[in-house]
Amino acid sequence: MLLRGFQKIETFFPPCHPGEIETVTAMAELTDDISPAFPYLNAVLKGTIYDQTHQTLNFKLGGRGITLHPRKIIVTRLENKEEAEKVLERLKDLINRTYERRDQLEPSYKSRAKLTVIEIYKLLPRTNCKECGEPTCMAFATKLVNEQATIERCKPLFAPAHQEMKERLLGLLEEAGYAVPQG
Ligand code: SF4
Repeated sequence: MLLRGFQKIETFFPPCHPGEIETVTAMAELTDDISPAFPYLNAVLKGTIYDQTHQTLNFKLGGRGITLHPRKIIVTRLENKEEAEKVLERLKDLINRTYERRDQLEPSYKSRAKLTVIEIYKLLPRTNCKECGEPTCMAFATKLVNEQATIERCKPLFAPAHQEMKERLLGLLEEAGYAVPQG
């Protein structure tokens, strides 16, 4: 087993901006160095950002932001400490299961660039209609990329006229690990 457990789990409230739901961030110190699993996790997970130089692996899981360091895991957008512990146990399983089947996997050292505000903005209706509660589409794209808003808030995007853009944007978001509406 690569990762045996957690030495310490701390939770705290990150700075919250007006209008946002208050969430918890968890930081767990690990009993073991998990960096040997990074290239295999990078191969099997969607939307990862792998930084070999600093030995970090970022991805999203169920709308939460995950950052793996060799001896530390950070999880954002949690409800409370109980949820943090459950998510960390799931991550421990994922890391161990992936590493155990490394002989069947092709390790990946590729680093995908982070999704940018402009990439998202280009696929929004760009009418600045404010239906999403933001003053402009650019402001909404900024919130979306930082996970302070979800795509469902842009109702005009789901109109038949924007079908093609919607599909492209949902595909992009899903590939990068963001939560998207299913069906
Ligand atoms: S609802 Fe959509 S189209 Fe309207 S301002 Fe917000 S992002 Fe732009």
